[in-house]
Amino acid sequence: MTERLELRDATLREWDAVVLDSDRETGIVLDRSAFYPGGGGQPPDHGVLLWGGVQTRVVDVRRGDDQYLVPADGDPLPPVGTPVRGALEDERRTALMRTHSGLHLLSGVVFRDFGALVTGSNMDPLSGRLDFNLEEVPPGFKEAVEAACNAEVEADRAIEAYELDRDDAFAIPDVIRTATNLLPPGIEVVRIVDIKGLDIQADGGTHVASTRQIGPMRVVKVENKGKGFRRIRVSLEG
Ligand SMILES: [Zn+2]
Repeated sequence: MTERLELRDATLREWDAVVLDSDRETGIVLDRSAFYPGGGGQPPDHGVLLWGGVQTRVVDVRRGDDQYLVPADGDPLPPVGTPVRGALEDERRTALMRTHSGLHLLSGVVFRDFGALVTGSNMDPLSGRLDFNLEEVPPGFKEAVEAACNAEVEADRAIEAYELDRDDAFAIPDVIRTATNLLPPGIEVVRIVDIKGLDIQADGGTHVASTRQIGPMRVVKVENKGKGFRRIRVSLEG
């Protein structure tokens, strides 16, 4: 199995690895990888593998029994056993870390100030949306949410990722509140992403280290998608 370097250090952008499997159709498997494979609304990383004086661009990651890096059409394929230097496309990953963190911040603010729970999410670099279970939208809601988000960005709260035993994790009320789907029974250790004092959830994505690194947030739109179903779209500065 690929060792997931990005889960321990979201700032890592370059590393050495060895090719374990290599196939034009299924993709490339490394022994160690910092490519986020996608999940929890955060899309996969892009980047490159450097080896033998050539490069293989990685344009997608497929998840299955392991993670398979998808090579760009026509790029050379490193044979099994090749030492490679992996490198992530920093601009995309950093934008996704800020966006993902911004959505956690939004989730914390809307629960604290309006009592609404998240029911879905999606993101691209520098824009994203969360769906909430919220019956009534009070006057000035959009402006109030935006102001509260930016106050939390300014507060520069620490964002920490750590692992807890399953029982300890689910003894935390906020972890239960924010769990959008139940964990499979076999999982003993839960990765937690904690915006200190604002939002805590079980999460596998990559995040920045403090809320100020998210930068100014704009609430672009609040959409009414049906009874009790509101969609909030946010954007960040490039
Ligand atoms: Zn998340």
